[in-house]
Amino acid sequence: MLLPGSTIGIVGGGQLGRMTAMAAARLGYHTHVFANEDDAPAVQVSSAATIAPFSDTGAVARFAAAIDVATCEFENVPVAVLRRVAARKPVSPSPAILETVQDRLREKNFLRSIGVATTEFREIAGPDALAAATAELGRPAVLKTVRFGYDGKGQVLLTPEMNLDEAWRRMGATLGILEGFVDFRCEASVIVARGADGACAAYPAVENRHVNHILDTTIAPATIEPELATEAEAIARHVAEQLGLVGVLAVEMFVTKSGGILVNELAARPHNSGHWTIDACMTSQFEQLVRAICGLPLGSTDRHSDAVMTNLIGRDVADWRAALDEPNAKLHLYGKSAVRPGRKMGHITRLLPRSSGTP
Ligand code: AMP
Repeated sequence: MLLPGSTIGIVGGGQLGRMTAMAAARLGYHTHVFANEDDAPAVQVSSAATIAPFSDTGAVARFAAAIDVATCEFENVPVAVLRRVAARKPVSPSPAILETVQDRLREKNFLRSIGVATTEFREIAGPDALAAATAELGRPAVLKTVRFGYDGKGQVLLTPEMNLDEAWRRMGATLGILEGFVDFRCEASVIVARGADGACAAYPAVENRHVNHILDTTIAPATIEPELATEAEAIARHVAEQLGLVGVLAVEMFVTKSGGILVNELAARPHNSGHWTIDACMTSQFEQLVRAICGLPLGSTDRHSDAVMTNLIGRDVADWRAALDEPNAKLHLYGKSAVRPGRKMGHITRLLPRSSGTP
């Protein structure tokens, strides 16, 4: 067990690292952030930082020397950097897990191998493969980059009239994945924490609404049948166990119109759809991460309130002041100075009395 007073290394300087650092501080841990800018959201609230590019191997070594355990707060950390840290200090989740979830093909093949349903998909290595796969899967379909896609970046919706060469060019990578389009009833996610002792704790399934491919609103709990919510939570636990996860995992899912669940994506870190847990649950997803990677017992995922979380994206943040007048609203700002379209600047969680009859 890593005792309070130890130092948690956080690779990445964004808002997920910021909220992890705040949870760590509350439990008496120091945090040391590895980021590429000294005003990054996580750096602002941490006791130490290494500001360097990932290519600076000396800086990575100094970071590893200064910490007791490391975790990462964004998906696309080069795995080689994590392995370099892992050679010196424990890294949770492990670099091997990050390697699986960073790559949409590897991720889906893994999910299939453990019996979890995903969208239909094909690997696409060029325009010819795209034509063949489109003939098989039909249209609409979604062409995505295998790596480095998030918030809809690197995604093209293949409509019946779209030219395939043009779609391939717009996707903009040398390897892609074509997915059948899911005409879903709603999108849901489950966040699950797992400790080194195998203990698992899942939060209730939530419903996620996206605008322009970016998460806009999370409704907690999801307004789906209790059996579906239970199934979603069981899937998330199964994935965490099969990955051998130590940390926090978000499982994004489509709930289909016929009442099935397809897993869309995994994120082996705290997730935007779990921000509501800070204000509405006994233990937030960020505190769970700290507990899991430090070998502390996981906390209760019970929620004392229902919640609706709304992201403040780009210029939405200008309206932050009004949230302070709402008695049931909790405002979170990430300390980002530059407002850009699509940039997550903060969020508001509105608490509601806990509904009866929900798990
Ligand atoms: P992703 O980057 O895979 O999480 O996709 C971002 C968003 O695009 C998802 O949350 C969905 O709203 C939408 N999307 C992605 N893949 C599909 C699909 N195969 N069918 C329908 N909608 C999708």
